[in-house]
Amino acid sequence: MAIYNPKSLKAEEFINDGEILDTLKYADENKDNLALVDEIIEKAKLRKGITHREASVLLACENEEKIKEIYALAEQIKKDFYGDRIVMFAPLYLSNYCVNGCVYCPYHLKNKHICRKKLTQEEVKAEVIALQDMGHKRLAIEAGEDPVNNPIEYILECIDTIYSIKHKNGAIRRVNVNIAATTVENYKKLHDAGIGTYILFQETYNKKSYEELHPTGPKHNYDYHTEAMDRAMEGGIDDVGLGVLFGLELYRYELAGLLMHAEHLEAVHGVGPHTISVPRIKAADDIDPDEFDNGIDDETFAKIIAIIRIAVPYTGMIISTRESKSVREKALRLGISQISGGSRTSVGGYVEEEDEDENSAQFDVSDRRSLDEVVRWLMELGYIPSFCTACYREGRTGDRFMALCKSGQIQNCCHPNALMTLEEYLMDYASPETREIGEKIIEKELLNIPKEKVRNIAREYIEEIKKDGKRDFRF
Ligand code: SAM
Repeated sequence: MAIYNPKSLKAEEFINDGEILDTLKYADENKDNLALVDEIIEKAKLRKGITHREASVLLACENEEKIKEIYALAEQIKKDFYGDRIVMFAPLYLSNYCVNGCVYCPYHLKNKHICRKKLTQEEVKAEVIALQDMGHKRLAIEAGEDPVNNPIEYILECIDTIYSIKHKNGAIRRVNVNIAATTVENYKKLHDAGIGTYILFQETYNKKSYEELHPTGPKHNYDYHTEAMDRAMEGGIDDVGLGVLFGLELYRYELAGLLMHAEHLEAVHGVGPHTISVPRIKAADDIDPDEFDNGIDDETFAKIIAIIRIAVPYTGMIISTRESKSVREKALRLGISQISGGSRTSVGGYVEEEDEDENSAQFDVSDRRSLDEVVRWLMELGYIPSFCTACYREGRTGDRFMALCKSGQIQNCCHPNALMTLEEYLMDYASPETREIGEKIIEKELLNIPKEKVRNIAREYIEEIKKDGKRDFRF
């Protein structure tokens, strides 16, 4: 039997089933132990995180007062670390050819009626122009796993094409990549191509369920998939993004596994995950989410987000348009720092209208608002939509990014960068109503830059964006 060891490079040792089952037992035994719950909340208030065991106790706890305290602390930690900034991105689906058999995903090999598409470089260009015209600066590229149709060379070519397109004032400044687990050599190539975060969802941390949910194809190999982030880091990628697909397995098992994975990355590489995503299963071409028994309600979902927020304060959290406006609103308060807007989950969906009969989409989108509507909505809620990509472009990745967080200089760095990129968005892409709201927010928020010198420079740069048409300033 494998023994739990967060420093091990073997999947079954750092995500250890025995340790997770013991953790859940410990959490059940202690869920009404309010003295312990208080102790864990006090520890979380130090803002240095809590362990998977401690987080599991909080998740099991049903005491309403304590849950309120957890939510309040999550909101406070969110404010302290991320201010009111929300980073914007969009997914770009390159190809839905796939050789895997994932039972929850309509791209699975046996689905013969979904429309299969793979973008040519000309089509990538057209999609990117459409995304730039919406105002996006940061993309997450997505592709099925298919060594023949989507080899690494194809992905690299697409990344090159995406970075090369400069249409009007537009530019994609950061390309995050969500493709199947691969080799160290391929991760090196992705690193050399200048990717931002490498994102790979674990789907489920439970090995037995994982193997059943991925019955065929290369993704069936649990160990290879679970050890992917270690290979990515070995290949030079500093920023990795974790996630589980909620609904596949017991959520309590998943939270423990997810946090153990974060602890493992910290123990081995000295830096935890850059982001954690929280997708839930959605209806799709031949997928009915009701066929999966472990779906979680909105309240449990919110609780999970709050607990992740306090467990790993330095890790950004992402929510996609899988979720509705109202679910996203609550999630933003409790910990989410990055959201997508105006998303299409079909291949070629930004140029072509999505067609019911020729559907190539991965899942149904709940939040179908345009980017302009999402940006305005965020500002009406008191947030600052940010199109910033400065950290990655200044080499502040991995532990250097974490050092910036820990130095307390975020307000002098991320805050002005958010305001400057928002100004670019307002000038180039926003509707008149959105622009009016945004200009007022920028004026007000400039005063919240602590250092006078930085404040004055930011004000000058914003004037240059507005009056001289200059772009791409950053601290
Ligand atoms: N093919 C790549 C892989 O295997 O990791 C990644 C790209 S896939 C396009 C992105 C993610 O979408 C998957 O990791 C999965 O968690 C999620 N997904 C798949 N089917 C879904 C569904 N029906 N509803 C919601 N999310 C889904």
